[in-house]
Amino acid sequence: MYEKIVIVGCGPAGSSAAIRLLESDVTKEVTIYEKRKQIGFPPRCAGGFHGSRAEAHGIAIPEEVIKARIKKLVFKAPHQTAEFNFSELGFDDLKYYSIDRTMFDQILAKKAESMGAEIETNVEVWGLRGSQGLEVWGPPVGTSPNVRQVEFDVLIAAAGFKEGPFSDLFEVPPTEDKEMATCLQYVMRVKNYPQDTMTFIFGKEVAPGGYAWIFPAGDRDVRVGLGIPMSMRSNPGTYLDALVERMWWTKGRNFKECIGRILPTTKPLKTGVVRDNIILAGDQLHATDPLTGGGIIPAILTGRAAADAILTGNVRGYDQLWKPLLEENKTRYRAKKLFAMSDRKLDRLVELFSQFRPKELKPGEEVRQLLKFIARKDPLLLASLVRILL
Ligand SMILES: Cc1cc2nc3c(=O)[nH]c(=O)nc-3n(C[C@H](O)[C@H](O)[C@H](O)COP(=O)(O)OP(=O)(O)OC[C@H]3O[C@@H](n4cnc5c(N)ncnc54)[C@H](O)[C@@H]3O)c2cc1C
Repeated sequence: MYEKIVIVGCGPAGSSAAIRLLESDVTKEVTIYEKRKQIGFPPRCAGGFHGSRAEAHGIAIPEEVIKARIKKLVFKAPHQTAEFNFSELGFDDLKYYSIDRTMFDQILAKKAESMGAEIETNVEVWGLRGSQGLEVWGPPVGTSPNVRQVEFDVLIAAAGFKEGPFSDLFEVPPTEDKEMATCLQYVMRVKNYPQDTMTFIFGKEVAPGGYAWIFPAGDRDVRVGLGIPMSMRSNPGTYLDALVERMWWTKGRNFKECIGRILPTTKPLKTGVVRDNIILAGDQLHATDPLTGGGIIPAILTGRAAADAILTGNVRGYDQLWKPLLEENKTRYRAKKLFAMSDRKLDRLVELFSQFRPKELKPGEEVRQLLKFIARKDPLLLASLVRILL
């Protein structure tokens, strides 16, 4: 059994792995190294959270992190709009939230700590040393650098996409630019944006090859952002500024915050086991939903799976544990191509979406359901959709 477990990164993947490990009596020592001074801050997320999907996986969402309860999803193409009003469609039970991501990460970390994890913040894992050692940089002591070597029996790399010293171990060949999205988001105080509505906007003028989002963030705040494939070689700021300028309800707006980051929009890596004692979880494994960029739930699920593999003493068995997520992501990866369709086809898709009236929605499988519906409805779109779906 592994005695000393080191986790790099105190995001949802790292904390969830620690919690799962410490729920078991056999775990001896869990240390998390986090390079930021404050866990979860600054936030790098839009805070969209599929509460029903989380529940289906036994993931609890603390009440205090919920900033807005979503009752309506709006999808906009250049000339068409579709509204998905939960109660009008008979889905009163559907839970979608906009959450405070910093608070969420901090609550998870506190739970891990209360169960016995040692969390060191402001400490960056810099390099690997041999097969069981790390080089760890803390804040300087006086004028001297503060570098330590730490040992581990098994390590969970949960440092986020392309972070930490691990990429060299598994990124062969490196991720292509079309498999990553450059994201930019503003948090603004605005007038008149409904706090129960999430809006998604598609089209070449707004976010070519990707999409823009407007999520309520509680009070009168909204998170307005977009992601476009890195291969576009375009500045997301130009598109985001243009979008914000066009929105009537942002008159008198106050900018509060700006975040930018690159997200994986590819399928997870072929294996999450590197060497015999390093496991990749969350964004580090590219587990993010390649269609929406939603990565909180995949991070928690893969963090838990990493812990389970360690607890059974079978690190190599990890890949089997997160395989169901890979299957979901395969469909979503294909569906990502929809964003690259012409504006005319996007209009048609959104028009069809306004007719989508499913009897039930299966959490996590809505995209598959929607795509099947669209494929049935429009023979003209069928050919391109079949290529995407099969
Ligand atoms: C603009 C944007 C909007 C998003 N919106 C959503 C959304 O609405 N819903 C959703 O579900 N997902 C969203 N995501 C994705 C989501 O934020 C990530 O998928 C999720 O945070 C992944 O969790 P993680 O634990 O794997 O990594 P992270 O949350 O990135 O945590 C990794 C941690 O490791 C630390 N770290 C990095 N390097 C080192 C090192 N060398 N040493 C020590 N510590 C290190 C980092 O500081 C960080 O705290 C969004 C992402 C972006 C960029």
